[in-house]
Amino acid sequence: MTTVTAGDAITTLTTHYIDGEFVESHGREVMDIVRPTDRQVIGRVTLADEEDTRRAIAAAKRAFATYGKSTVEERAAILRRMHQAASARLDDLTAAMVEEYGGVVQFARPIVESAVGAFLASERALSEIPWTRSWNKTTVTMEPVGVAGLITAWNANALFICLKLASAVAAGCTAVIKPSELSSLQTRALVEALHEADLPKGLLNVVTGLGNVVGAELVRNPDVDKISFTGSVAVGEGIMRDGAATMKRVTLELGGKSPNVLLDDAEFDEAIPNALAAVFLNSGQACAAGTRLLVPSKRLEEAKRAIVEAMAAFPVGDPADPKTAVGPMVSQKQYDRIESYIRKGIEEGAEVLVGGEGHPEGLEAGYFVKPTVFVNARNDMTIAQEEIFGPVLSVIAYDEEDDAIRIANDSKYGLHAFVSSTDLEHAHRVAGQLRAGRVVINGMADDPQAPWGGFKCSGVGREYGRYGIEAFLETRAILEA
Ligand code: NAD
Repeated sequence: MTTVTAGDAITTLTTHYIDGEFVESHGREVMDIVRPTDRQVIGRVTLADEEDTRRAIAAAKRAFATYGKSTVEERAAILRRMHQAASARLDDLTAAMVEEYGGVVQFARPIVESAVGAFLASERALSEIPWTRSWNKTTVTMEPVGVAGLITAWNANALFICLKLASAVAAGCTAVIKPSELSSLQTRALVEALHEADLPKGLLNVVTGLGNVVGAELVRNPDVDKISFTGSVAVGEGIMRDGAATMKRVTLELGGKSPNVLLDDAEFDEAIPNALAAVFLNSGQACAAGTRLLVPSKRLEEAKRAIVEAMAAFPVGDPADPKTAVGPMVSQKQYDRIESYIRKGIEEGAEVLVGGEGHPEGLEAGYFVKPTVFVNARNDMTIAQEEIFGPVLSVIAYDEEDDAIRIANDSKYGLHAFVSSTDLEHAHRVAGQLRAGRVVINGMADDPQAPWGGFKCSGVGREYGRYGIEAFLETRAILEA
């Protein structure tokens, strides 16, 4: 393959994956890939243009004519092959996430494993879909929606691509993927792996380029039937609006400002380290991060002491070091964004308990920020309302449990929520009142068959398991007169 050349430790990518092969980019714009730990240029990628995108859409459309009629057994076999092919490159995928994105290896490895696991999870979920139902003279079948445009964010590249692709393939759709341009090297490792899965030509197409070029073409092109998007609310709004012209089906996985409710009977020795893990997850660049910690007022001082003590378990530094919990932010833009929110929190009167502005000592070369915990925060402050997308926690005190539930739900977002209690029944009672797509009790948990997605501005639709597959299906009823 002539697509990747390594010279002077800079990887150069000039091709896209269209119709089963790596083809030279028609787009000419070149973008540098900058390593977040030290700001060194480690790659150069030639970005796709509208013409590359249209070629990929045409390939996916041709492939759909056949693949759209595939049997569930054929799709299951393809998903197993994708799983096998991607599994063979787990080490490369992890290394690429650490190098290009600065993801800490203690998070990158499990996230890449989940990514690869998505193919098997979708294969398993195939058996849960009611593909055909009949009664009297009526038959209802579940049909693939068509060509799917999959647009992803940079903070867990392999996971988003695999989740969306696995669901689309399980449903019988063909795909054009527009990964974040910040994830070009990671995407290449994944696509090279999937190239080995002996896929039908045109089932998988990948065009790396800018959102307002490649993404916009996917959204407006009438031959794309469905957009599944992971990213910001602002771009999600635009996709919904612009997609309406061609009546696109849309799944939008957007931002979050997830509350973490410590109930008055919570065990802080466990609940506080869990709360910090939930906010520093993926160096704080996580849509599900529990960034608002709701603590009973009468236990606030105890919570502060526990937070300061527990911080030792969250060192910042080299993402390749397995002990590191918080790595660099992905880019200068992201670094500046986090710093501006920390400044804003101070200006608005929240108190810095740990962290604060500037680089951590000795880490000035990269996009490192200080993991920061604000106390005396109010829910109406900017730092408690807006998604920061960095390792910044706002601790908010509440008096009564009803206040905690009200504050938790007082957000435009509703992606995730957390509840801690020593009494599971109590925790479930509160969890059942939280307006979020997923509520996790006592720590962190995942289930590849459980739906993932948001209430309110956190998005539209669900991913994972049968819910993810259903998002790529249409129903057709055939009725005999
Ligand atoms: P972003 O919205 O800037 O970009 C996401 C993707 O959309 C990128 O591939 C980008 O190139 C593309 N894009 C940009 N403009 C576009 C346009 N006009 N048309 C079509 N595509 C366009 O988001 P980001 O900065 O990459 O990611 C961070 C955001 O993603 C955060 O808000 C985070 O909460 C969210 N996110 C959500 C989930 C979830 O599962 N709900 C998961 C991860 C990240």
